Amino acid sequence: MISVEEAIATILDQIRPLGSERVSLLNARGRILAEKIIAGLSVPPCDNSGMDGYAVRFADIDGVSPSRPVRLGIAGDLPAGAIHSEQLQPGQALRIMTGAVIPAGADTVVKQEDTRVEGTDVIIEHEQSHGVNVRRAGEDIMQGALLAPPGTLLRSAHIGVLASIKRSTVSVFQRPRVAVLSTGDELVDIYGDVGPGRIVASNSYTLAGLVADAGAEPVMLGIARDTKEALRERLLDAMRCDVIITTGGVSVGDYDFVKDVLQELGMDMKFWKVAMRPGQPLAFGVIGGRPAFGLPGNPVAAMISFEQFTRPALRKMTGHTNLFRTTVEAQAAEKVATKTGKKYFIRCRITRTETGFQASTTGAQGSGILRSMSAATGLMIVPEDVATVNPGDRVKVQVLDPEFAFVPQPDY
Ligand code: AMP
Ligand code: MG
Repeated sequence: MISVEEAIATILDQIRPLGSERVSLLNARGRILAEKIIAGLSVPPCDNSGMDGYAVRFADIDGVSPSRPVRLGIAGDLPAGAIHSEQLQPGQALRIMTGAVIPAGADTVVKQEDTRVEGTDVIIEHEQSHGVNVRRAGEDIMQGALLAPPGTLLRSAHIGVLASIKRSTVSVFQRPRVAVLSTGDELVDIYGDVGPGRIVASNSYTLAGLVADAGAEPVMLGIARDTKEALRERLLDAMRCDVIITTGGVSVGDYDFVKDVLQELGMDMKFWKVAMRPGQPLAFGVIGGRPAFGLPGNPVAAMISFEQFTRPALRKMTGHTNLFRTTVEAQAAEKVATKTGKKYFIRCRITRTETGFQASTTGAQGSGILRSMSAATGLMIVPEDVATVNPGDRVKVQVLDPEFAFVPQPDY
């Protein structure tokens, strides 16, 4: 049996990012950049007005005040998108809208609120500073600048930046196709008959969600019966994918054939037991270059094992540089009893208090109790050498999803 840390290191050592593919910009959000983005042009391309007002020569209005107002002749009217081709002469002001190009000769924009119009003149009587309300060419994006390195998670703002520099396609890491296979004679699909002794293979559904959340593409392979033949057939089908995930049949039961069949098919098994709860049985190996995860069957054990091992691996394959969940320090709200020698992951809810985060368990912690997982926003980590967590103890909590965990609300 190996530790969680050793298991993670062993797995990540076997994982390489997949190749890249070119996608259209609107399909790139949430993907991981596989190229270096260098600005092919400057944004904005020219100096332009940051306000509706009047473009002026600062020399004409230097030292203006209510007692020493300045009167300038209005030379014209410039909407955004239009160009004023003449040079602004001394004593002139050009009416200008936000985003319009600053005419030659002008260097400052007086905002409309600081002006008053009298006939064909504009009166300025508030002090201005040189260059105010002028947006400089390249002040957002300078041609030639490095805008994003490979490994960047493309968020909406990046998509906007790429659009600004006219990049209609972008190179991103391929998303792994992940085979998801449930195993067990007791399992039926969601439309099947749940008579005595039968349960729905809910893990297939949970895992499909987790795979998608990790930025990969689930390929549903259904349910394999607990026979070597059935497993062999499904696992051969799974070879069309980049990653194989099975659930169930990796323990020491009489019908737990997943490890045997994977090895018969050529898997180099790296380990099959991890010192953790839930989730102790977990087979990991490489088969024809593909990582294969034999996750446990118990629904919570399957999820927690996926979280610790499969998710970081999938993120590494998608080119992510940030592989792990965030952890926070919290105060335990109640007593938690475990056994030493294994790392425990306790389903809990994270709340914010005046003294920091607090973690309270979400109920029964059996590895088949999926409801306490669905109520959880974090996993309290109880280390191998700790048997009792007392109320008020400082604990580390893995945050399952920050947005979900901290109940976002307007709080400025
Ligand atoms: P196993 O590891 O195959 O002995 O399965 C352990 C427990 O998990 C058993 O109670 C199974 O019925 C249950 N289980 C196995 N696979 C699934 C699945 N795909 N969905 C829900 N429960 C499962
Ligand atoms: Mg089974």
